[in-house]
Amino acid sequence: MKRTPLVLSAVLAIAGCASTPQPVYRTSPYAAPRVPSGPNLFSQAPSAPLHSELFACNGGGGSNVGPVGERGEATLYTPYIHTAAGALLRNPTESACLSSGFGWRTLANGGGREHTGLDLANPNGGFVYAAADGWVSYAEWRGGYGLAVEIDHGHGVRTFYAHLNEIDPNLSSGAFVRGGAAIARMGATGNATGVHLHYEVSIDGLKVDPLNYGAAPPLF
Ligand SMILES: [Zn+2]
Repeated sequence: MKRTPLVLSAVLAIAGCASTPQPVYRTSPYAAPRVPSGPNLFSQAPSAPLHSELFACNGGGGSNVGPVGERGEATLYTPYIHTAAGALLRNPTESACLSSGFGWRTLANGGGREHTGLDLANPNGGFVYAAADGWVSYAEWRGGYGLAVEIDHGHGVRTFYAHLNEIDPNLSSGAFVRGGAAIARMGATGNATGVHLHYEVSIDGLKVDPLNYGAAPPLF
């Protein structure tokens, strides 16, 4: 693992996200839990389930989760994001609810900042899956994002997974991963107070709303 320079760590710490307003900063790359000894649990992991719905945590409200229906379901949700690189999973978790959406987020102290991805939370953790086939850009500690993975899917499409508890030890920069393969376990490393996946999708370097981008066109 590369050591992140101190200045870059500080910038990334600010850029991280928390599911509650009290951030916890851990800048040492050695503070993060690593893969336990024993057999590699990723090699026997199930592939990604396809979630037909995504529910807002606590029924929605209090966060920028976007529109929700009567049952608390995210009404913009569809299982796939359609991109130039093919379909990406919109919810690459084992099981999670939507705790925060993309865009401006107001904090309890009256401030606010831009949130550049979705937060998919599950206090019990669970597997995180590659959203589609691609090549690992990096799998390492990234300041406020904690343990993080970026996958390059080609055609300018990239996905980013942060606050991970542990990463498949076979995942190294340049490795090819299959869509739906387990790549990590959800965690709360870096600037995060609750166990969740911070998930970003970028197109040609521009971060887009993973909940809203690339919905299937209507059939009629
Ligand atoms: Zn986030």
